[in-house]
Amino acid sequence: MEFLFDSLLALISETSTNLPPDVRAAMGAALSAEKPRTQSHQALNVIATNIDMAHDSQAPICQDTGMPFFLVHTPPAVSQVAIKRAIIDAVAEATRRGKLRPNSVDSITGKNSGNNLGPETPIVHFEQWGEDSIEVKLLLKGGGCENKNIQYSLPCELDHLGRADRTLAGVKSCILHSVWQAQGQGCAPGAIGVAIGSDRGHGYFLAKQQLFRTLDDTNPDPVLAKLEAEIMDEANRIGVGAMGFGGNASLIGCKITAANRLPASFFVSVAYDCWAFRRLGVRLDASSGAITNWVYRDPERAVERMAASVGVPLTGREIVLTPPLSEAAVRALKVGDVVLISGEIYTGRDNVHAHLMKNPPPVDLTGGIIYHCGPVMLKRGEEWFSNAAGPTTSIREEPYQADVMKLLGLKAVIGKGGMGARTLQACRELPGVYLHAIGGAASLIAKSVEEVLGVYKLEFGVPEAMWVIRVRDFPAVVTMDAHGNSLHDTIREQSRVELERLLA
Ligand code: SF4
Repeated sequence: MEFLFDSLLALISETSTNLPPDVRAAMGAALSAEKPRTQSHQALNVIATNIDMAHDSQAPICQDTGMPFFLVHTPPAVSQVAIKRAIIDAVAEATRRGKLRPNSVDSITGKNSGNNLGPETPIVHFEQWGEDSIEVKLLLKGGGCENKNIQYSLPCELDHLGRADRTLAGVKSCILHSVWQAQGQGCAPGAIGVAIGSDRGHGYFLAKQQLFRTLDDTNPDPVLAKLEAEIMDEANRIGVGAMGFGGNASLIGCKITAANRLPASFFVSVAYDCWAFRRLGVRLDASSGAITNWVYRDPERAVERMAASVGVPLTGREIVLTPPLSEAAVRALKVGDVVLISGEIYTGRDNVHAHLMKNPPPVDLTGGIIYHCGPVMLKRGEEWFSNAAGPTTSIREEPYQADVMKLLGLKAVIGKGGMGARTLQACRELPGVYLHAIGGAASLIAKSVEEVLGVYKLEFGVPEAMWVIRVRDFPAVVTMDAHGNSLHDTIREQSRVELERLLA
């Protein structure tokens, strides 16, 4: 199959850089549903711009290109061994070309393999079928939304919502709860795949498999079709909104399947995918490996643009922040303010935070800004540059953040999804602020990275290293301020009350 490698490389590159038409349509509807001049509307505008920019520059839509998940159908006579080998080679090459971020980490040593390969990476599922051609479908689902997957064992007690019984009403409560618990941490508005029944392991697989359905299809089972429609309606009334900023657009898709279960078990498994819902597929000629058709998209049809204008939509009320930040500048910021950051900032994720707890920083960080980001970094000659640099989920750093801020004199944290009570308290004491960048807006934010000035702890791997970058007009929203206010706490509580009311 002389064209197999090229076909698979094209599939990976296209999946990472170009959202399928059904997701674009759903995001367009989300944008129309949101009230203009709200933070959620602005977030959706930034997302729309990012989708266009990623396609224009053939760069990853989001820097977290996730765990590659392949679903392959083959005719009986085709060698699955050869296909797996070609998938592995194509994944490594796509990583080298910056279409995928090196994301495969040894779970025992913590070492990043650097090429997205390793035990059980990528994930490849094979099934035989009666057709003559090969079908390869790919889902790239990042860690932020993967961490918001959830499984319920019915009957169960849901936070503040009471008991979910082994009934369709109980199932529905669990599914709505899954959207609520994700808030902005899975980069809402998201889409969910749901499996009712099966066992724990296969339930999650079936839930993920539902994400291979198009967002605009109709479930052939009328009971499940009705449930999907009800969830779409009600989930979009609880007020989570884009990025958890509050608003009407919380969910862009709900796809449900049901499987038989053991009498003793009743699982509801939910796979939460973010707005950066990267899913494509190809049909391949079984003898040459050449692409005969694309699944989910028509390459003859022009890709529709998402944004009404070019660049980040600004109002003129944005506040310019230039680190190092003074106490007065930090105290002046209030939840809801939009800021544009220009100057030197430092990336830091899990490994950097754990390291900084025990070791002196490589540079003076007083008054500085740390950015929860695992960028895609590439080299042009000896110079590093970034083609995707969006925020990662901040809550993972909650055990460290307050101490790291106090120890090093940091004045601001950029991330997404918000942080908890200890960080909020540290913001009051220091003072400090939490700045919310738009999750997944990786191409757009990469454009604001003027220069990569250096890197520390590269041995942690590209995403986990501490990159020193100079940014210009990096957009973010203040969602936790030095006065004890947290937009995340407010929206979480408001949406909880709304969900409770809906389920009453
Ligand atoms: S859009 Fe958000 S949740 Fe999705 S992969 Fe990117 S950072 Fe993760």
